[in-house]
Amino acid sequence: MPQESDHGQTVAAQGSRIDAYVDRYAARATGMVASEVRALFAVASRPEVVSLAGGMPYVTALPLDTVGELVADLVARRGPVALQYGSGQGDPHLREQICDVMRMEGIEANADDVVVTVGSQQALDLITRIFIDPGDVILAEGPSYVGALGTFSAYQAKVIHIAMDDEGIIPESLAQTIYALKTAGSPIKFLYTIPTFQNPAGVTLNVARRQQVLDICQRADVLIVEDNPYGMLGFDGEPMRALRADNADGVVYLGSFSKTLAPGFRVGWALAPHAIRDKLVLAMESAVLSHSSFTQLAVGQYLATQPWREQIKTFRELYRERRDAMLSSLEALMPADFTWTRPSGGFFVWATLPEGLDSKALLPRAVSERVAFVPGTGFYADGGGARHMRLSYCYPEPDRIREGVRRLAGVIEQELRL
Ligand code: PMP
Repeated sequence: MPQESDHGQTVAAQGSRIDAYVDRYAARATGMVASEVRALFAVASRPEVVSLAGGMPYVTALPLDTVGELVADLVARRGPVALQYGSGQGDPHLREQICDVMRMEGIEANADDVVVTVGSQQALDLITRIFIDPGDVILAEGPSYVGALGTFSAYQAKVIHIAMDDEGIIPESLAQTIYALKTAGSPIKFLYTIPTFQNPAGVTLNVARRQQVLDICQRADVLIVEDNPYGMLGFDGEPMRALRADNADGVVYLGSFSKTLAPGFRVGWALAPHAIRDKLVLAMESAVLSHSSFTQLAVGQYLATQPWREQIKTFRELYRERRDAMLSSLEALMPADFTWTRPSGGFFVWATLPEGLDSKALLPRAVSERVAFVPGTGFYADGGGARHMRLSYCYPEPDRIREGVRRLAGVIEQELRL
C-alpha cells in the first residue's frame, strides 16, 4: 500500500534495495512499505511544479512575530517547567483549555478525559496499538486518510472500507458490512471515521446520518474513532456537532492543533472513555514518556493570550478563497466526464477521472507538465481508487491553483485524445 503522508513524504519506514537485516525484522515491519510514487514527489516539490498534492496548512498566515515573542516569554518566565519532563497524560492546564475548544463542537469534556498526544497521528498510533492484533478488523470510509491506513497496516490490521457518497459514510453500507462480519464471526475492533471535511474526499457526514451511524454502532457494540482535525475549518457557519457529543461512552475523539494553529508544535489529543484513556496513557508513556512540555505550554500560552478564534476565522477565509479558486477553475476547464466533490471546509477535493483513465499512470505525465496530485489508490487499503485523485487547495495561492488546474486539464484532455 502506498504510504505518502499529506505532505508527500513517507509516513512509514523506508524500504531499501539491499537490506542485510531483511530476515530479522518483526512481521509487522512488512506492513511498513515505501511509496511507489515517492520518487515523483521529490520532483513535485520543485518550485516550477504546482503541487495540488500536499496537505500542508498555510502557516505563513500566522502572526509569526507574536508566536516568537510568546515562545521567548515562555522560556523566560516558565523555563524550568517548559524544559522539564511532563505527565504522560499531558499538561493539566492545556487539557482544560482543550475542553474549552471542544465545547465549540458540542462536547462537554473534563480535563481528565483528555490525553495530549504528538499530533493526532500519535493518537491514531496509540489507539491502534492498544486495540489491534494482527488480522483484526477496522472499518474505515473508502477512501480514507493515508496516514491512518499506514498506521493500521503497520499493526497488520485488516481494513474493510465502507462506501461513502457526497453526504459521507452510507449508513446502510455500514450496517450491512457489520452484519456480514458478525455473521462470519469476525470481531470488529473499531470504526475509524473522519466525519467532517473528510481527508481525502472533502465530504461531510450529514446530521441525519450522524445519528444513524451512532445508532448502528451502538446497537452492534462497535467503538467509533472520530478523527476531526478539520472540524473548525468550515466555510459556512458554526462547527458541526461532533459524534462524541452524543455518545461519550462509545466514541474516542481525536483532535489536533495542526490545522487551527500549526503542525510544527505537534500537539493533538484524544478524548476517550476512562478505561481506554488509562491504556492510552500507558501506551503514551511507553512510546515517549511524555509529550514535549515545551510545545504544550507554548500552545497553552497561545490559547490564553492570543485571539485564537479570530485566527481560525482568518484561516477559514483564506482556505475558502482557495477552495473557490479550485472549484471555479475545475468547472471552467475540466472535460464533461471529469467529476469532483464540493467541500464546504477543510483542504481537499476528491476527483474522478473519465472512464478508462488511471490516476497513477497519469501522474508522471502531469509532473512533466508541472502539476502534481495524489493518485487515489493511496487512500484505499485494498487497491481501489485507480480512477480517483486528491487535489488539495490549502497551500498554493489562488493564482497558482488556477494555473495548476489548467495544466492538469490539459494533461487529461491529451490523455483522452490518445
Ligand atoms: N487525521 C487526518 C484526517 C489528517 O488529515 C491528519 C493530517 N494530515 C492527521 C490525522 C494527523 O495530523 P496531526 O498529527 O498533525 O495532528
